[in-house]
Amino acid sequence: MLKTKILIKTPKRRHPSIIIYNVQVDVPESEIQEIFKNHMHIDAELKLRFKFRGKSPNHQNWIFETPAAEFSSLMQYNKIPICWQMHRLGEFFHYKLCNFCQSFGHTTKDCTFSTLSCGHCAGHHMTRDCNHEFITCVNCFKSNQNNGTNLPTWHHTRHSSCPYLQSEIDKYRATRDYA
Ligand SMILES: [Zn+2]
Ligand SMILES: [Zn+2]
Ligand SMILES: [Zn+2]
Repeated sequence: MLKTKILIKTPKRRHPSIIIYNVQVDVPESEIQEIFKNHMHIDAELKLRFKFRGKSPNHQNWIFETPAAEFSSLMQYNKIPICWQMHRLGEFFHYKLCNFCQSFGHTTKDCTFSTLSCGHCAGHHMTRDCNHEFITCVNCFKSNQNNGTNLPTWHHTRHSSCPYLQSEIDKYRATRDYA
C-alpha cells in the first residue's frame, strides 16, 4: 500500500530571548524565576537557554527564551531587582561576529580570511590586545573604501549604531515570533 503524505512546512518562527546582565554567580535560577513571577507578573516559567561571563568572573549574563506574550511584558522593564540590586534587562540577539576578521555570519573557527582586524580600532591585532584610543569600525571603513559608501566609522564593530550589525539584527528578528 502506498501512503502519500503531503507535508506543508511553514517556517515556524522561534521565540525571542531576553538577557539579564551581570548577575552574581551564586544566584540560583529559582530566585530569578520567583522574581519573574512575583515582581514582573510572568506566570509561565521561562526557559533558561544559557549563561556567559559578565563584567567579571563573579558575574554572569543570563539568557532566557521568552514567548511573545512574556517577551512584551518583560520589555516594559529595563531593570530587574535581584538580591536588592538592579540589573539591566534587554533583548538578546543571536548573530555571528568573527573575532578574527570582524565579519558577520561566521565565527573565528570558520574564518577564511588571513588578515586579523581589531573590533575597536580596525588595526591588525586582536581586539583584546588593543591599546588605541581612536575607534574605527573596520566593516564600515572597508565599505567606504571598496564600495564608495560614506558611512560613519567612529564606532566599535559591536555597537548598535553600526549598519552592518543592524542588518544582522534585522535578519535575526525576521526569524522570531513577536506577536
Ligand atoms: Zn572571520
Ligand atoms: Zn585595536
Ligand atoms: Zn560599522
